[in-house]
Amino acid sequence: MSKLVYAFGRGRAAGHGRMKDLLGGKGANLAEMTRLGIPVPPGFTISTRACNRFFERGDRMPAELAAEVRAALARLERQAGKRFGDRADPLLVSVRSGAKFSMPGMMDTILNLGLNDQSVAGLARTSGDPRFAYDSYRRFIQMFGAVVLGVDKERFHDRLEALKRRRRAKLDTELTAADLAALCDTFQREVRRATRRPFPQDPTRQLWDAIGAVFGSWNSPRARTYRRQYGIAEELGTAVNVQCMVFGNLGQDCATGVAFTRNPATGENVLYGEYLPNAQGEDVVAGIRTPLPISCRQAPAEAAHSLERRMPAAYRELQRIRRKLERHFRDMQDVEFTVERGKLYMLQTRTGKRTGLAALHIAFDLHRERAIDAREVVLRIEPETISQLLAPEFDPASVERARREGRVLGRGLPAGPGAAAGGVVFTAERARELADGGRNVILVRTETSPEDIGGMLAAVGIVTSRGGMTSHAAVVARGMGKPCVVGAERLVVDERGGTVEAGGRRLREGEELSIDGSTGELLVGALEPHPSEILRAVGANAGRARRGPTYRRFVQLMRLADRYRRLAVRANADTPHDAGVARAFGAVGIGLCRTEHMFFAADRIAAVRRLILADDDAQRARALAKLLPMQRRDFVGIFTAMDGLPVTIRLLDPPLHEFLPTRPEQFRSLAREMGLPVREVEARARQLHELNPMLGHRGCRLGITFPAIYEMQVRAILEAAVACRRRGLRVHPEVMIPLIGTAEEYRALDRRIRAIAAEIRGRNGRPVAYSVGTMIEIPRACLVAGAIAAEAEFFSFGTNDLTQMAYGFSRDDAAKFLPQYLEQRLLPADPFRTLDRTGVGQLIQRCVADGRQARRGLKIGVCGEHGGDAASVLFFHEVGVDYVSCSPYRVPVARLAAAQAALRGAADGHGASV
Ligand code: ADP
Ligand code: MG
Ligand code: MG
Repeated sequence: MSKLVYAFGRGRAAGHGRMKDLLGGKGANLAEMTRLGIPVPPGFTISTRACNRFFERGDRMPAELAAEVRAALARLERQAGKRFGDRADPLLVSVRSGAKFSMPGMMDTILNLGLNDQSVAGLARTSGDPRFAYDSYRRFIQMFGAVVLGVDKERFHDRLEALKRRRRAKLDTELTAADLAALCDTFQREVRRATRRPFPQDPTRQLWDAIGAVFGSWNSPRARTYRRQYGIAEELGTAVNVQCMVFGNLGQDCATGVAFTRNPATGENVLYGEYLPNAQGEDVVAGIRTPLPISCRQAPAEAAHSLERRMPAAYRELQRIRRKLERHFRDMQDVEFTVERGKLYMLQTRTGKRTGLAALHIAFDLHRERAIDAREVVLRIEPETISQLLAPEFDPASVERARREGRVLGRGLPAGPGAAAGGVVFTAERARELADGGRNVILVRTETSPEDIGGMLAAVGIVTSRGGMTSHAAVVARGMGKPCVVGAERLVVDERGGTVEAGGRRLREGEELSIDGSTGELLVGALEPHPSEILRAVGANAGRARRGPTYRRFVQLMRLADRYRRLAVRANADTPHDAGVARAFGAVGIGLCRTEHMFFAADRIAAVRRLILADDDAQRARALAKLLPMQRRDFVGIFTAMDGLPVTIRLLDPPLHEFLPTRPEQFRSLAREMGLPVREVEARARQLHELNPMLGHRGCRLGITFPAIYEMQVRAILEAAVACRRRGLRVHPEVMIPLIGTAEEYRALDRRIRAIAAEIRGRNGRPVAYSVGTMIEIPRACLVAGAIAAEAEFFSFGTNDLTQMAYGFSRDDAAKFLPQYLEQRLLPADPFRTLDRTGVGQLIQRCVADGRQARRGLKIGVCGEHGGDAASVLFFHEVGVDYVSCSPYRVPVARLAAAQAALRGAADGHGASV
């Protein structure tokens, strides 16, 4: 029978760091730290296997678990020299959740378990510190009450605050032993009121109930929300760690803290963290008191209160462990520790979450320190975080102005970089409501808790008045890549009243606030965001002086990525400006240039409407003659910007009715221009109405029924190419026909395009190099890919439409049901964001194989949103397409994702040849 419990302690452990599936991240690393000889209080880990058996048995403990836990507990008692449940000198433990992937604050932990009305007195005697004993007991009742017995946390909180008010105590540490003993009674009464039962006094029962509650917390709504957001599998389950307590609340030579082995915001190679003397557990992150800096240099103004000054021995030990952990894990770690009477104990280590900026610098610094090689540098940086490096900042001049005008509301810690402006809201619920209504909102709270996760997702920025760089708000915001400012102490946030006040200013819900998560500054009013260092450096007229170390490393990273990737990365761009941005970010061509956007321009829409509503050829010809030179200019602009790189231009795609006037006055002026009665124009517009335009008169069907439009576009493209070539530019247009479903459709259109090309060539002498191909977005096209490829020179998967049609999910209406599908786990992920390998992927795979069989060397690309999604890029790499194309700002993300795909593929033993 398989083992369910893994012990660790005294330098030995049954588990190790690579057993995260079974022991969870926390348990695996507690075992690993123990093996490294780092001081970790002894304990044991109940595996995720036990958790899953618990669920299988309808939330009952697997029978074989009891004996294993008993044995492990007995061992712990021997090591600690104390007995669990002993009245005179009790062994106390923590019961800690810990899944494979860290879910900060999502699940539950109970400290000081094993205490009851008798043993608390024993603890007071043996420690010689009754204040400590009753402080530990009240914390235990509170945590056990909330987590296991489901008592509302607020009740305990309100009782504690009431007592503090009565005693005129600002801090919980000012309460006396007698106060705390009384508080224990009050808390127990709260429990009895809420549960109609006395607080459980039997330690063994406490232990099993706690283990069950931790298992159960895997299924709490907030844990589910978090998993959905981060794509963590439901089946994993959580492990439970039972560990001997060490105490940070035994006096002024005790403390609890959290730290990063490097600065998680900037990546600077210095210990960075916060601690609280005479405190326990979550006090630091929960914002009970304002935490103090660990090192002097971290906050020079508070150096005197730093751990470095106040507990130098523990600080030196922490520095030593920091180096040891980094050498071992070869990455920045996020650690939790406790100091008991001057001695340091480590309670957790994991790979630290970091900003994109920090990720970049840490990876290159580790490379310089020879801890990791160049491939590892590429693999270390989450592609998505690259987009943070491009995140906007505020224009310095407008910040300066706001300061002069006295619009500084406050300042806090720069916890999540980037600038954001929006209306303030004070609850997660309002954040969601206003964001759903299309408002940008800034969530302002005293502190955040895991219940706020939905509101944090909805907000463009987050502000708290309490808490430090490792507070819940800070950690979660960094994970989300959101601008965040924490610990803005001057702010008085009144969540219930819906106001925030500071320095004589007061903002109500909806009033504008600008926050800078890189500097920590909070400014009243909405400031204009401004491009980041990299964006500025990438910009066309950036001078050398502006190119700082971040830009240099960004460029270095992109070069490394290019060294390893096989997939080419193009961009979707419709204008010369976007084409310029795309090139600056390293796109090697345009994968999708949509011509309809050009039709909507103010100076053109009238001509387009006349074209659509014309009733004779002469009228149509006049409208086309007006549009032709405009389109030609568009293409000259784009070809010039791309100078020699391939440009794929899609012929007109949307249903015609999208171009029609909607308002009466538009109809009137159009009728005037066309010399027709308004009624007549309206009647024609009605004729164009369709019941299901997405599947209607659009794409290549327009080319078949209104040949003049495509002819004009092809002419504009090829004439633009001729004109550019005359100016000495190299041009290679790729004409792409949208929405092909049959080889016959393709053939008919392809012939016409080539006829126009021949005519233009006849007029100009030398031929222009061009190719004709098709977008693959109708499932049927995938099934007859061989026949289409016999004619087409290239394929480009329009994965948005392909997904829409493969599922039969209307992209425009999916919001009505997709969330439910995701909620009920009927889909593993939003298929419009991450390509569905199972179904849509099969179509693509088959299409690639049949297409290449029919035409060797058929060029195949991807031009849907999926081209900028890292998981989808991995798939495209595996099926062997030639390039992906995404929005210009996502090109760096795709380049990095493509390199990771190649490196991962190689590591998994199936390389680019799939
Ligand atoms: P989370 O996963 O939310 O971080 P943890 O299980 O890490 O929860 O527990 C939170 C905090 O509780 C730890 O950072 C530590 O300060 C405290 N803690 C947990 N176990 C112990 C213990 N055995 N002794 C002292 N403190 C503990
Ligand atoms: Mg922890
Ligand atoms: Mg399409």
